Amino acid sequence: MSRGTIYLLHFERPYVHARHYLGWTGGNLEVRLDAHAAGNGARLLAVVASAGIAWNLARVWPGTRARERQIKRQGGLSRCCPLCGVVPARSADRKALAKLALRYGRYVVSGGAL
Ligand SMILES: [Zn+2]
Repeated sequence: MSRGTIYLLHFERPYVHARHYLGWTGGNLEVRLDAHAAGNGARLLAVVASAGIAWNLARVWPGTRARERQIKRQGGLSRCCPLCGVVPARSADRKALAKLALRYGRYVVSGGAL
């Protein structure tokens, strides 16, 4: 299965019981996030947008769609979400997040959480 990007979106406030969206793209992440921001590409994000809830890109991992499903099945996304207060253990992760903050600045909360 092809490699791609797994991404975690953190909602500014919960939608019913949902606080995160985990997705995968085999293409350009920014294009995908733009689609989500316009309410396309995922039912949950469409309803979140219509409820007026903003979200931020919290974390990304390189990986396959199968890995994304595996993470989804595990549940407890807040346990791997920097915006929920989790500090990635490896400094490589922290560097990657700092880079993402620059690259996807308009989607990422800057400052402390990263
Ligand atoms: Zn979170």
